[in-house]
Amino acid sequence: MIQRFDNIAIELPEPDSANPAAAAAVQELMGGKFGEMSTLMNYTFQSFNFRGKKQYRPFYDLLCNIAGEEWSHIELVAATINLLLTGATTRADRNKPGGKTARSTSTKAKNLVSAGTTDPAPLADALDYRYAYHFVASGQSAMPFDSMGNPWNGSYVTATGNLKMDLLHNFFLECGARAGKMRVYEMCPDPTARAMVGYLLVRGGTHIVAYAKALEKLTGANVGQVLPIPDVSNKKFPEAMKHEANGLHRIMWHFSPSDYTELDQIWNGPHPEDGEELEFRMNEMPPGAPWPEMPDEPQLVSPGELDPEMINYYAKRLGDGGEEDVHGEKERTSAQRANGGARQSAAASSSRIGRSANRRR
Ligand code: MN
Ligand code: MN
Repeated sequence: MIQRFDNIAIELPEPDSANPAAAAAVQELMGGKFGEMSTLMNYTFQSFNFRGKKQYRPFYDLLCNIAGEEWSHIELVAATINLLLTGATTRADRNKPGGKTARSTSTKAKNLVSAGTTDPAPLADALDYRYAYHFVASGQSAMPFDSMGNPWNGSYVTATGNLKMDLLHNFFLECGARAGKMRVYEMCPDPTARAMVGYLLVRGGTHIVAYAKALEKLTGANVGQVLPIPDVSNKKFPEAMKHEANGLHRIMWHFSPSDYTELDQIWNGPHPEDGEELEFRMNEMPPGAPWPEMPDEPQLVSPGELDPEMINYYAKRLGDGGEEDVHGEKERTSAQRANGGARQSAAASSSRIGRSANRRR
């Protein structure tokens, strides 16, 4: 079972401006073969399928704990993509004729003729963006796809059941993930993308070391000798160096309040690159930071608003005798349920829905 916290791993800076091309590149770190969905699902399935826990408990604990951390990495990548896409097209609302138009760089938009909004084609800029899914399949937000729009898939998971082979694969997977991060870093001067990559380079680095140590304990081979792969130190990236200066490259956090306590039988000794002592922070999660705010993008009807006329329509219908539910309350519209009664001012005038929502608070 897992437990969730409404945080992301680190505070992300706001982008200098929307950057849909960078968002497309960052998708590789989400749903690419070597992306965070892959690391998460590889370790998760290996942990589900782990045989011989009695003899190999520290290896199992290590896998489970790192899988827990990988969840926080898909969150961080998603938050980065969402920040980079926020404001990437013109804000305009077809439900509000003459409404505010934020900006448009496309001459095509200005030449098109359409009724309703100040900007006749607020999404026209997206024609020039290469990742159409961000604009036609989502509300300008992260997809479980790679940088070219290929969906993540289960063939990226290797869980052979042979511990030595799976650990070797994990070591290779983390090195591949590291290469991908470094390339995205070199593509994107944007501070949001670089803050995310810097942090993940350091945390991915701890996973590389963890799997190297695990292979060492299991076989006696000195895998740490081949590090770093690719052979550029994290210390060459300012956004990563900052975290290494705080010791994050030698800390293993604990992603469970009480379980997976034996991983320190593997996570110990000197770091293979700088010789600093490795440290397991028992019962300690990373501090975390709030999720960034995501403003409405009305040109994508995201999230969309409740239509007062629709509310009144349902209010009248229910007033004419709606079904009683098991709690003895009148049924509510799905829109109201989704809003948790937060935007109920329109409904308040229509007696029953308003009363029902008030009772719930
Ligand atoms: Mn990761
Ligand atoms: Mn990792």
